[in-house]
Amino acid sequence: MSTLTQEQIDELSRIMDARWESEMNEIRAVVERARDDRRQAALLGRPADRLDEALREIAQEAPYAIVRQNVQDVQDIEGARQRIAAGTYGICIDCGGDIGYERLLAYPTAKRCIRCQREHERRRAGG
Ligand SMILES: [Zn+2]
Repeated sequence: MSTLTQEQIDELSRIMDARWESEMNEIRAVVERARDDRRQAALLGRPADRLDEALREIAQEAPYAIVRQNVQDVQDIEGARQRIAAGTYGICIDCGGDIGYERLLAYPTAKRCIRCQREHERRRAGG
């Protein structure tokens, strides 16, 4: 169990909801400009699995390179929501320790504590 209180989780959820909305608005605006009707419908619609699929496709296509980071952010938020639902939010996926409220306030979708994140990035950089 993470040591986050329900109030802290609620606050972080609000931050992520606001970010989700603004990232999705940017993605939708670009898809709209591309006159990509099929994906536009998927982005506006439910159920959520069609949204996931549409986002995955968008992230892979060259014309949408401009929103790739937005798509990544939305997917990270979806992942965080799933961890909240599963009760594992705020727990480092590498060491199982607490990520910490301060770090989550700065970076609500964090999956790792700061120490493991640094280690992860060092390894990924081939260092
Ligand atoms: Zn850790």
